Amino acid sequence: AARHVALPPRRAVASRAMSAEAPLGVAPAAAEEEMAAVVDEMAEEAAVWCAVHGLVVGDRAEPRSGTIPGVGLVHAPFALLPTRFPASFWKQARELAPIFNDLVDRVSLDGEFLQDSLSRTRQVDDFTSRLLDIHAKMMEVNKEEDIRLGLHRSDYMLDSGTNSLLQIELNTISSSFPGLSSLVSELHRTLLNRHGKVLGLDSKRIPQNWAATQFAEALSMAWTEFNNKRDGQTVSVVYFRAGYSPNDYPSEAEWRARLLMEQSSAIKCPSISYHLVGTKKIQQELAKPNILERFLNNKEDIAKLRKCFAGLWSLDNEEIVKTAIEKPDLFVLKPQREGGGNNIYGYDLRETLVRLQKEQGEALAAYILMQRIFPRASLTHLVQGGVCFEDLTISELGIFGAYLRNKDKVVLNNQCGYLMRTKVSSSNEGGVAAGFAVLDSILLT
Ligand code: ADP
Ligand code: MG
Ligand code: MG
Repeated sequence: AARHVALPPRRAVASRAMSAEAPLGVAPAAAEEEMAAVVDEMAEEAAVWCAVHGLVVGDRAEPRSGTIPGVGLVHAPFALLPTRFPASFWKQARELAPIFNDLVDRVSLDGEFLQDSLSRTRQVDDFTSRLLDIHAKMMEVNKEEDIRLGLHRSDYMLDSGTNSLLQIELNTISSSFPGLSSLVSELHRTLLNRHGKVLGLDSKRIPQNWAATQFAEALSMAWTEFNNKRDGQTVSVVYFRAGYSPNDYPSEAEWRARLLMEQSSAIKCPSISYHLVGTKKIQQELAKPNILERFLNNKEDIAKLRKCFAGLWSLDNEEIVKTAIEKPDLFVLKPQREGGGNNIYGYDLRETLVRLQKEQGEALAAYILMQRIFPRASLTHLVQGGVCFEDLTISELGIFGAYLRNKDKVVLNNQCGYLMRTKVSSSNEGGVAAGFAVLDSILLT
């Protein structure tokens, strides 16, 4: 269904806006002409808005991009209109944010649990092993972090089969797009303020999104808690915009730097413990029966968390490995990696499991298996690199959460806005930076 049409000629942009499934709200054939013109106009207006308001990313096609400041920028890929999202699931996802923040903090304090859960992964995954080494060193010296800052993002999809909100993963390091996601909500609001009437869409149904401001406030509050007004050479807060991927450690120097930061008295966002809590393996361990109860007391909170857990299995479960080989399309195979593009699906999943089984040893311990979630697909106008096209898409909603604690005092524990990402439904992965998805916002229904 995809039609790649460069912005000029503008008419072509509208493509199938008026088809029966079109998400634009109004449909009578008489309005077809008008609607096509509106979509056309909006796509151009939106691209200009992006340039003016800094809704831009580095342009891979420009070799100087990323080396010379201000050179080689392109509008971020975006959905032309916000995606409909039921208000009840929106409320549920927001309510989960402070509970997950709490959970991360509690789990981070149990060093033995983190080491034990990841002990088999460590034998086959060098990256995880290096992170665990740093963590073990901190345990040896009883390093305590009195002030703990978490800037998280918990991601969800709506499973169409069960009509439920299910968690994809919880990010505890470099949770991306608080800045651009706030801007996309603003872009959509601007477009609907101008064109909402003819589209039958009300801009007030796009929730406010202050993710960027709220994350910045959390960082400044951490600085305040650190309480060293004469900083001089003292670093109070370390925020990691990298460090979650093996590529970020090309030599021993980066590992030494990571260790040095961990040993320091600065507030780490995240600490090595918080980082490890966000691994896929820990997500899977926490989904086992009676594990949440070890970390949380409130039964209602536990029930809310469990309700959003999809099926998660370690690969020492022979029964599930057998089922996944038989029905690979019902599962996702995940290594201990972040940043998109690492998961294994379908035929590759089957081949990988068969191969790893043959290899024997601990090779399987590098992965977890997850129930595949199937969101309902809808038709969406996507704009990428100045090109607007329409395709069947599915979406993933991320809720940002900020947590700040100083000893027994919880200074901050909130949801902080959202990130909606929409991707062509035939694509498995979802990362915007990795080139799979576009930025989006939501229209509450
Ligand atoms: P990463 O840390 O690399 O972002 P994710 O667990 O978020 O890893 O997986 C990447 C993408 O793969 C997600 O954004 C989503 O689009 C897709 N995905 C992950 N898990 C599932 C699942 N259980 N069902 C369907 N799609 C999934
Ligand atoms: Mg992740
Ligand atoms: Mg992800």
